[in-house]
Amino acid sequence: MEFQGINLSARTLKRLHAWTEREAFSHAYIFAGPPEADKMGAARAFLKTAYCLAEDARPCGHCIMCTKIEHGNHEDLLYVQREGSSIGVKQIEDLQQRLRNKPYASERISAVIEDADKMTPQSQNKLLKTLEEPNPGNILI
Ligand SMILES: [Zn+2]
Repeated sequence: MEFQGINLSARTLKRLHAWTEREAFSHAYIFAGPPEADKMGAARAFLKTAYCLAEDARPCGHCIMCTKIEHGNHEDLLYVQREGSSIGVKQIEDLQQRLRNKPYASERISAVIEDADKMTPQSQNKLLKTLEEPNPGNILI
């Protein structure tokens, strides 16, 4: 697993390695840290491992899945970012609807909610159902 060039603590890197080596992904992760920590970079590297087509030494960094994730255009990866100062209920409802769809280009649909701490209380409550009853294969970060 390559997390080189990502500004993370040794403890966090060790944890990411452990998760990805088992390849038994949980349905949800929180990547938390100080503002200078490259949490999005870590999420991308982590998701490459989940999607990479290489037989071993994943992520390879070269296959179509790794390339699409690096370029931010993987069809089965959803990104939610705040609109204005917060992430609203409508955004979470849209996300939930898309998570229920069948994946286009892979085995699973995943989502990254950036600045999840900016979800409104209503958004948090809405997302709770997805966290409690995840769709098979989904990974939420
Ligand atoms: Zn790959």
